[in-house]
Amino acid sequence: KSSTALPDIDSSKLKVTMNSELKKKPLNKDLLFGHSFTDHMLTVEWTATKGWEAPKILPYGKLSLDPSAVVFHYAIECFEGMKAYIDKQGKIRLFRPDMNMNRLASSCKRLTLPAFDRKQFLECVKELLKIDKSWIPKEKGYSLYIRPTAIGTQNSLGVGPSNKALMFVICSPVGPYYKTGFSAVSLYATRDYVRAWPGGTGDAKLGSNYASGIRPQIEVAKDGYQQILWMFGKEDYVTEVGTMNFFCYWINEQGEKELCTPPLDGTILPGVTRNSILSLARDWKEFKVVEKNITLPEIKKASTENRLLELFGAGTAAIVSPIKNIRYNDFDIKVPLDPKDPKAQAGPLTTRFAETIMGIQYGDINHKDWSVVI
Ligand code: PMP
Repeated sequence: KSSTALPDIDSSKLKVTMNSELKKKPLNKDLLFGHSFTDHMLTVEWTATKGWEAPKILPYGKLSLDPSAVVFHYAIECFEGMKAYIDKQGKIRLFRPDMNMNRLASSCKRLTLPAFDRKQFLECVKELLKIDKSWIPKEKGYSLYIRPTAIGTQNSLGVGPSNKALMFVICSPVGPYYKTGFSAVSLYATRDYVRAWPGGTGDAKLGSNYASGIRPQIEVAKDGYQQILWMFGKEDYVTEVGTMNFFCYWINEQGEKELCTPPLDGTILPGVTRNSILSLARDWKEFKVVEKNITLPEIKKASTENRLLELFGAGTAAIVSPIKNIRYNDFDIKVPLDPKDPKAQAGPLTTRFAETIMGIQYGDINHKDWSVVI
């Protein structure tokens, strides 16, 4: 670093103000995703002239922003979604937090929000977790959802880079996605809307990507489909499922067992779960693992030829979400779940990924790089 460089985030400068009015915690059974928040939050402010100021941990509370702040007008906002878990020894664990820090930095870059020291920012997040540790639910499947967020805060209606920014982190206790075992979902492959396109922002975690996905989601939900299958192009390439990456396990045209997922071509969010599944499957060396474009007609053909084995979505919220049906051009593509058990709600490979990743997250399966003890 040159001596003229502006200050970066420095966790040793963290200022902590404890909340004197602690909230009543919800019972595990009452947890609803993202509805209750812990007693504290982390904030770090940046200005173009002074760089990053000392990070602060404060009582959870309202932000005060000018109505002209650029975030309200041009959606200069990005975020992350990650979780903290309590292991059998009562220690706090994070799952591959470096990947979330890297993705936040690349989302910020896309929005001309400032770069930051990712390790130092993560250290501040860890301090927040230590302070709000009693909010992390202890039961298996339960966790504390962590929402790092970055916004442009310059007071200006000019469309341009923000000369002020705020990063904040709030946390919310969450229960398991599936309370009573898996529940396979039915998808609708939409032609009316596109989530992401080449040269767009689909590979960054920008709030604006999600705002435009809500209406399509509501429309398919009315027809009884749990999620949208996002397609792209006249070939009907599969891109993502709702807010999850898409995985297909099948017997390919060459007769080989193969796990595939669309490549990171700019239209796909580089999921931490996606990367973890690919990495585990490549380690297992039991079937072919490829990142390649997959079309709906290919999936339909595989289904009619009985070559389709399992389809699932992958993301932090559910780890994996088994798919049982895809509505495509007035046709239902039936997806097998478990060939050995007609009542099962997930195939054996889908279940194995869920159990392995969950085992690593809670420290029951040892993984020195992926599971980070605080
Ligand atoms: N795609 C989209 C559009 C998402 O919002 C998410 C959730 N962050 C994912 C994929 C899965 O990413 P991850 O495994 O990092 O949660």
